[in-house]
Order: sequence, then C-alpha cells, then structure tokens
Amino acid sequence: KAAGRGRVTVFDEEMLSDKRYRRLVERELRAAVYLGELELHYQPIVGPDGSTEAFEGLIRWRHPVRGLIAPAEFIAIAERSTLIDMLGEWVFKRACADIGQFAGRRISINVSGEQLKRDEIVTMCDRVLKDTGRSASQFIIEITETVATAATPEILRRLEALRGLGFHIALDDFGTGHCGFNYLKTLPVDIIKIDRSYIRALAHDQVAQIFVSALAQIARIQEVTIVAEGVETAEEFALAKAAGCNRFQGYFFGRPVPRGKLALLDGRSAEP
Ligand code: C2E
Ligand code: CA
Ligand code: CA
Ligand code: CA
Repeated sequence: KAAGRGRVTVFDEEMLSDKRYRRLVERELRAAVYLGELELHYQPIVGPDGSTEAFEGLIRWRHPVRGLIAPAEFIAIAERSTLIDMLGEWVFKRACADIGQFAGRRISINVSGEQLKRDEIVTMCDRVLKDTGRSASQFIIEITETVATAATPEILRRLEALRGLGFHIALDDFGTGHCGFNYLKTLPVDIIKIDRSYIRALAHDQVAQIFVSALAQIARIQEVTIVAEGVETAEEFALAKAAGCNRFQGYFFGRPVPRGKLALLDGRSAEP
C-alpha cells in the first residue's frame, strides 16, 4: 500500500526540476487524497463594515512527516498532470460538504488554469452539485488574471458554462497579469480580486492608489465587486476602502483556519 512506511521526505526546492522527484511527489499526493491528508482551510472575506460576507477555501496538505504543507509546494506539481483535476474535485466536494455550516455565506474556491483546459471541469462541477444537492450560486470560482488573459476560446466557453450553471467567477491576483481595461469588459467575471502587492503599496505609492481607484470606478459601472487581497493592517483597510474596494480579505480580518476553528457570526463554533 502507498501509505506509511517508506514515505520519503521530499519537497526540496531545487529538486523540483527533477523528473523522478516530481513523480515521487505525485505519487504521495495521489495517496494523500485517499489517506485523508488534504484539508481545506477557510479565510473570511468581509464587507466595508468588517462583517463576513464569504470565505475563500485554501488547500493544505497535512503530511504525516512534514507537517502542514502550503499549496505553493505542491499545486505546481499537480498541475503537470491530471492530478490537478483530482485535487480540484476533492476541493469542490469538500466545499460542498462544508457549506451547510456557513450560514448562507458563499465559498470561493481556486480553480487551476490547467483544469480549465479540459471539459471535465464543467462536468465535474455539475455532477458534484447534483450528488451533493448544492447550488452553484453558493460558490465562487477564482481563476487568476494570467489564466484569463491567456484564455483560449475553449477556456472562455468553459467559464461561460460554469457561469451558466450559476457560479460567480472571480479574477484572482489582478494587477499581476496584463489584463487591459478593454479586455476586462469582455471577460465573464463578477468579482475582481486586487493582488496584495497593490494593497501593500497603497500607503506610499500614488500610482497604486490611482490604479486601484480607477479599477474600482470601472468595476462600479460594470457591477463587478472589487476585493482587496492581503489586507494586513487597519491602515491598509482604510486606504483600500477609500480607493473604492467593497470587499476585503487578509490577516487583519483572519487567517485561513480549519473549518472547526471558524467562529461564525452568530457566535456558534462551526463544529459542535
Ligand atoms: P491565492 O488564491 O492568491 O490565495 C491567497 C493567498 O494569500 C493564500 O496563501 C492566503 O493564505 C494568503 N493570504 C491571505 N491573507 C494574507 C495577508 O494578509 N498577507 C499575506 N502575506 N498573505 C495572505 P496560500 O493559502 O498559501 O495559497 C497560495 C496559493 O495557492 C493561492 O493564492 C492559490 O493560487 C493556490 N491555491 C490555494 N488553494 C488552492 C486550491 O484549492 N486549488 C488551486 N488550484 N490552487 C490553490
Ligand atoms: Ca484565490
Ligand atoms: Ca490572490
Ligand atoms: Ca496567488
């Protein structure tokens, strides 16, 4: 069996280019799904008054030897094969199972650009919704700006199909890619998440202030929600609000935590 003994402690940065090494991580990751080592942590997304409006689900791998592993260490490896589809399905199933505890708030999940290269993303989401009795309107699908600007007609068609199912679509890490304001108009998105590098810069960089304000004004016209990502201080919160952002996410409001540790607004713990 793939479990237990013989698991090699891996994930060394410079080994990532090594083919054999990657295959090893792939094998461990595949096993991790069955062994229940994956966790979806949740981070609040709040409104201007600080009240929680939604949660972003962020994957973690609780490795028996290495401890909690961040997605940066394994998503890129999973993206090199259809393993990412398997992780993506795990994430969405987990979110569907958890959403009942979220008192009507939406869960935002991250979908890899690799997943969007196959029709499976649409059929999988549709199937999981039917199997779990959930509604797509309870979920937001986040894709990065880079994926959106490089989107082929097929990828755009899948995004439209997901939107047709009722998902809201969010453009993640906005500002790190090359999405022109004109192209933005043509994209099927409901939410734009401004990359945290801009939020960090608001305090000292006038160009960042102008960029975020302009984006917020365009968003208002197009009825798109603007999320400020990576808000860490009261000052950043105030500046992002002044620039016109209408949703806020970051350590200032709460770090990603396992669902059992979420304190919901009505004061109950998410788990008994
Ligand atoms: P992301 O989608 O941009 O997620 C936000 C990242 O910023 C998360 O890192 C989050 O923990 C972190 N963050 C939140 N607030 C703050 C803050 O105030 N300051 C700072 N410095 N960081 C903050 P995380 O969880 O390590 O995830 C990293 C990336 O991995 C994500 O970036 C996303 O691209 C990817 N990822 C995470 N979960 C999934 C998943 O389920 N599927 C896929 N395909 N990718 C995922
Ligand atoms: Ca995200
Ligand atoms: Ca982001
Ligand atoms: Ca990111």
